[in-house]
Amino acid sequence: HRSIAVFTSGGDSCGMNSAVRAVARMGIYVGCKVYLIKEGYQGMVDGGENFIEAEWKTVSGIMQKGGTVIGSARCKDFRTREGRLKAALNLIERKITNLVVIGGDGSLTGANLFRQEWTSLLDELISVGKITKETAELCSHLNIVGMVGSIDNDFCGTDMTIGADSALHRIIEAIDNIATTASSHQRCFVMEVMGRHCGYLALVAALASEADWVFIPEWPPETGWRDVLCNKLQKERSMGQRLNIIIVAEGAVDMEGNKITCDMVKDLIITELKYDTRVTILGHVQRGGSPSAFDRVLGCRMGAEAVLALMDATPDTPACVVSLDGNQTVRVPLLECVERTKRVQATMDKQDFTDAVKLRGRS
Ligand code: ADP
Repeated sequence: HRSIAVFTSGGDSCGMNSAVRAVARMGIYVGCKVYLIKEGYQGMVDGGENFIEAEWKTVSGIMQKGGTVIGSARCKDFRTREGRLKAALNLIERKITNLVVIGGDGSLTGANLFRQEWTSLLDELISVGKITKETAELCSHLNIVGMVGSIDNDFCGTDMTIGADSALHRIIEAIDNIATTASSHQRCFVMEVMGRHCGYLALVAALASEADWVFIPEWPPETGWRDVLCNKLQKERSMGQRLNIIIVAEGAVDMEGNKITCDMVKDLIITELKYDTRVTILGHVQRGGSPSAFDRVLGCRMGAEAVLALMDATPDTPACVVSLDGNQTVRVPLLECVERTKRVQATMDKQDFTDAVKLRGRS
């Protein structure tokens, strides 16, 4: 009887529930015992009631909900060897040797480390008398499969992370709402959207909302952008446009690497053009609400594939991430994707944007 545990970790995103549901049901379908672990790694370290054995109906009616109903947390304990020892014991006590982690690159890195350490954790648990050699033999390999839940769509190795599409919907709704009032009063709105170092949400939102301008981290504006921007806004007003929308990604920078903020852009427009200009920082509304159909189906497909990947895993199979490639569900090596994602970050920190964009593309 094989046991699988699934948990959500790091920042929440829409579609995580759908993924949890699919893991639980596919797991039960293929004859496994499935545990849901509450509160991410913290629940794994703390054990007890954080482990819930899932039945078919346990995960009914959660797909429609945003966020993650089993909770997510940042966990300091799991970063320590002592914390991971506790987590390992909690898994072994339930004979869990298959883990599905739904989270961002931090959560996946932690999972990979856990897997690499597994044998030495078992040895230590034997030496302090917490488990027997026989138990350790039964649990000798930990299989890991990851799924990327993130609104930012910032992970190398998948075309879409679970939750990015819903966040995009939230942003588009907000821009549409702003646009009607902006037009009434002939205002200019400068709006900040999330995405950390990734401009995906800002760029696609700008394309889909007829925005006048977008600032994204991957493409800092040329020196002299202030004049170009003001000229563009003026030209549009002269053609009868009653409003302007400017989108600023939260990670946007200029050529020198200085952060571009909404207030900077607003002050520029007020000084140069005297337009009535307002700033709206969308903030956490982008994370909330119900998941889009796309994210629900994505979570479902990824979750089902994750269980199949676990069932196929042998002791030599490296940890993988299930991801979307075109319209196909595929398995990609976890470590490679995490490393590539980190390299993107590093190249962008060094202002090397061409390389960052190349790295993020499909390999
Ligand atoms: P995300 O998964 O969204 O990138 P974090 O980077 O905050 O979010 O990671 C979530 C959790 O994963 C952390 O709170 C920690 O418990 C665990 N984690 C992250 N990196 C590591 C690591 N290098 N070693 C062990 N655990 C880690």
